[in-house]
Amino acid sequence: MKFSMKILLWTIIVMALALGFSGFYFVNYVFETSLEREVGQAVDESSILGFAFETAALSVPAKYSVLPNNTVEEIASNLERGGQSTGRLLRISDEEKNVLYTSDGFEMDDELLQQTGENIKTYRIIQVGEKYYIHTGTTVNALNRILYLENMKDVSEVFTEREMGFSLYRKVTLVMLFVGMVIMQIISSLLTKPVRLLTEATKRMAAGDYAYRAKQISQDELGQLTKDFNSMAGALEQNIQMLEEEIEAKEEFMGAFAHELKTPLTAIIGYADMLRSHKLDEEKSIMSANYIYTEGKRLETMSLRLLDIIVAGKEEAELQEVPVEPVFDYLEEMFVGRRKIEFYFEHEPGTVLAEINLIKTVLVNLVDNACKASEEGGRIEISGQALENGYRFAVRDYGIGIPEEELHKITKAFYMVDKSRARSKNGAGLGLALCVEILKIHHSELEIESEAGKGSCFGFILAKGGAKE
Ligand code: ADP
Repeated sequence: MKFSMKILLWTIIVMALALGFSGFYFVNYVFETSLEREVGQAVDESSILGFAFETAALSVPAKYSVLPNNTVEEIASNLERGGQSTGRLLRISDEEKNVLYTSDGFEMDDELLQQTGENIKTYRIIQVGEKYYIHTGTTVNALNRILYLENMKDVSEVFTEREMGFSLYRKVTLVMLFVGMVIMQIISSLLTKPVRLLTEATKRMAAGDYAYRAKQISQDELGQLTKDFNSMAGALEQNIQMLEEEIEAKEEFMGAFAHELKTPLTAIIGYADMLRSHKLDEEKSIMSANYIYTEGKRLETMSLRLLDIIVAGKEEAELQEVPVEPVFDYLEEMFVGRRKIEFYFEHEPGTVLAEINLIKTVLVNLVDNACKASEEGGRIEISGQALENGYRFAVRDYGIGIPEEELHKITKAFYMVDKSRARSKNGAGLGLALCVEILKIHHSELEIESEAGKGSCFGFILAKGGAKE
């Protein structure tokens, strides 16, 4: 059952019970009060009748020492006529409780009469047919006689009013329930709207629309839930996007990998085939073998680099506090005098938190790239700068530079701006990808500034030695 229907149903049940009980209590209260008033009046009327009887008995001629029965009848008949238009209903009985006079329509048993005694006034409420009466009993002391006077007061109207009250209340209850149902239907539909919007959002998201957000239409708990749901959806969307990007990167990687494998392999297979199927002169044989060797070497370098990237990606670096001087010394030894390039070293003293061999690999790759990008006799600056919170390494060249639109791609595996130029210099597009992975485990990243035709600067910052992780 829908949540809004549940709210509606329970409200109607509660309303029905509340209206039912309060209606019953109210109508009954009015009835009881009216009946009490009628009983009071009936008892008073009975006393007045008794008094009137006694007064009338005083006017009996003096010759009677005891009130005769026919006089009793006469007085009773006068009293009866003295009632309202319908007449009173009376019954008069003698000392032995034998009936002396009964009004027409006075049809009662003698149960009350038997309970009535001198100074004992009685009453009861009784139903006769469809009518209700208050039956009262009292004694009359008239001319040496004790007589019993019973009176019947019709109170059917009070009972009829109660029935009418109940019936009216039932109708009012039904109307109120109906109106309440319509109002509650609207209210419950408004109250549960955030839930419906959330359901819609979950369905849309399940169908793949991760950017869809539920509209927040209230500030209460459901509004908070919508807010939380939306932030969860945001985080989810980000994760999914990340995963998608990762998958895309992996696919790109696989494509590039296959392509990079194919080029040297095609050359190797081609030259090998030539060697085995043709009788080549010595010069051509050496040239073919040379091609096979160089391309094989390229494959070897590529597979080693790939292995490095995979290892670096999985590695948890054990960072140690090391001085920077040995790193610069190593670079000087590696490059100065070995290439036709002018190297300039300038570094401030300092220590860094690093795995030193990995940082050497990064710098060797950066300097190597700078050499590849520079002309013979070009200038390369390798610098180290102590910052407030770290130490910055930078390699600057004044070579071919990188076009702006290529900048964000060059750290991807196998990406080369100029493929033939890179391959001719033994490049495979893996060096920077390896640098990025290594810097990642040092909680750092590669900063690249470059302008086509003017040169590039590759830098990164490492945490200072002694700095807490
Ligand atoms: P590789 O050097 O093996 O080709 P890298 O990942 O090191 O692979 O570099 C990717 C590409 O980025 C290079 O092929 C080159 O096109 C470009 N690149 C890298 N460093 C520089 C640089 N200093 N100046 C110009 N281009 C560069």
